[in-house]
Amino acid sequence: MAFVEIKDIKKHFGCGENKVEALKGVTLSIDKGEMCVLLGPSGSGKSTLLKCLSGIEKPDTGEVILDGVNIHKLKRNETALLRRRRIGFIYQNYNLFEEFTAYENIVLPLVLDNATPDVEEIDALMEQLHILGAKDKLPSELSGGEQQKVAIARAFVAKPKIIFADEPTGNLDAASAAETAKLLRRTSKLFGTCIIMVTHDMQMADCADRIITIEDGHLHSD
Ligand code: ADP
Repeated sequence: MAFVEIKDIKKHFGCGENKVEALKGVTLSIDKGEMCVLLGPSGSGKSTLLKCLSGIEKPDTGEVILDGVNIHKLKRNETALLRRRRIGFIYQNYNLFEEFTAYENIVLPLVLDNATPDVEEIDALMEQLHILGAKDKLPSELSGGEQQKVAIARAFVAKPKIIFADEPTGNLDAASAAETAKLLRRTSKLFGTCIIMVTHDMQMADCADRIITIEDGHLHSD
């Protein structure tokens, strides 16, 4: 069985004249450890699909089965646990806490889950992402590329089975974006983590196992 099964999901926003059908029936399956890129014009439904897959939005109809769990049938506290323990997120604007050091930002998902960070393991993860030297620095002391690598380390720290990323290289220059794309791929292969990412960055698309394009709420090609 595939790791992620998406069965005919539909999602609309608004009503009457303002009704927008963001997803018009999307069916897709993704294997364990696959790195998938979602491409498509602005407004085609990429972010809505990512939100439905990660449990942030509930589709009108259809199912999302994540590692055997139908995520939209979970109770609210079960969804919160699933998102904390099994899912990692990477955002375009890094979403780091400015008053916390790189290390403190990275261990946050563990601390929020009352788990004790294994310092050696975190150091190895930071080394893998080339940011060990930034361990005690604040985000304001880091470049954009370094901040995004801290955010990537935070996404991997709880060893999630899947990571959702929304334009992770959108704020980086071409050289940092290329390095970040390669490191993200290497780390996902090391941990066997599935990645589903919205991007316009062709360097990121080049690193992917699979490119899925969406147009007007439909899967266009895979
Ligand atoms: P993309 O990520 O490909 O740019 P989105 O998934 O953000 O596309 O949007 C798909 C369509 O759904 C667009 O027409 C957008 O305006 C609409 N949409 C997305 N989110 C909302 C929302 N919260 N309220 C109303 N319309 C929305």
